[in-house]
Amino acid sequence: MVLVTGGAGYIGSHTIIALDEAGYDFVVFDNFCNSSKESITRVENIIDKKIKVIEGDIRDAKALQSVFDTYKIDSVIHFAGLKAVGESVEKPLKYYDYNVNGTVVLCDAMSKNGVKKIVFSSSATVYGDPATTPITEDFPLSATNPYGRSKLMIEEILRDIYVSDNSWKVVLLRYFNPVGAHESGTIGEDPNGIPNNLMPFIAQTAVGKRDVLSVFGDDYDTKDGSGVRDYIHVVDLADGHVKALNKIDGFDEVMSINLGTGNGYSVIEMVKAFERASGKKVPYKTAPRRSGDIATCFADPSYAKDILGWVATKGVDQMCEDSWRWQSNNPNGYAKS
Ligand code: NAD
Ligand code: UDP
Repeated sequence: MVLVTGGAGYIGSHTIIALDEAGYDFVVFDNFCNSSKESITRVENIIDKKIKVIEGDIRDAKALQSVFDTYKIDSVIHFAGLKAVGESVEKPLKYYDYNVNGTVVLCDAMSKNGVKKIVFSSSATVYGDPATTPITEDFPLSATNPYGRSKLMIEEILRDIYVSDNSWKVVLLRYFNPVGAHESGTIGEDPNGIPNNLMPFIAQTAVGKRDVLSVFGDDYDTKDGSGVRDYIHVVDLADGHVKALNKIDGFDEVMSINLGTGNGYSVIEMVKAFERASGKKVPYKTAPRRSGDIATCFADPSYAKDILGWVATKGVDQMCEDSWRWQSNNPNGYAKS
């Protein structure tokens, strides 16, 4: 059985559907600090079965032990953690506690219970400000904020665990920019308060919850001056986790794998794509660059294809359509829709 930490969250909720479709049995472990139990109920409706859920915190060794006592866990997909870059600058200790300490407690519990397979949610942020694009997995690693540093530290901790005991199987999945939603429009990204990320901000502007999108910077050295990113549909991303689990037994080194499409889209291009998909206007204005942002970031995804047999299949139009279906059906997310 697969233990899915953070399985109630945005990427986790999509991944458990993919796990179910692929025939994996799983249990979700989540403290719901950034998600809603409603997401689980909705996934239950999509897959038409009950989901095993334990409410608990990965920093709580006792709570984790009871999961290992109750279920025969053989691998872990580890999503649980905090992800807001700005908050991590304000509250670095909280980020190191949830992300780094949480992972140490989790790995210790795995080790005590003889569970040695882990797929970890890393991020393209570990490449810092890359000298060139597309980005391959052997690019130098760096971090510009505590969130990114927590991801880098966890990658290194997992590498050290492997060095100490190379019967561990470790896959570090470096996500580019996850967007979109399940095609049912019943689950999706539900950020607290004002969204920091581009796509939820665009979607909330289209649905009338926000007046105007600020485009952070119009003088980057990019096609139209706005920042360029590799947006990847969350359902493709979910599939990447299943493919990683399918192959994990065959790996005999720590695997770092980019999950991206290989295509870069600018902020303005994403606004236009969303307008096409939704039929709504997305008013925007130019604003100063956001501190810490880089001009361009997109993946070379060929390693994922070679190693996992994984490629992204969904383009930006589908990302925007699915994101709009979720947003327009649930203007207030899970809470009051
Ligand atoms: P999310 O916040 O929607 O999901 C994270 C889940 O973990 C939530 O359900 C939250 O309640 C849970 N959680 C947090 N701390 C916990 C703890 N101490 N114990 C138990 N549960 C806890 O975020 P997401 O977008 O689904 O991201 C999942 C993972 O992917 C995170 O590790 C994130 O850093 C990483 N990631 C996300 C993105 C992105 O843009 N969404 C990009 C790269 C990497
Ligand atoms: N962005 C923007 N306005 C916003 C949010 C984001 O112009 O309200 C831009 C940001 O500068 C970057 C891109 O959109 O170029 C993606 O930002 P996001 O925060 O979604 O992801 P990041 O790549 O920074 O992790």
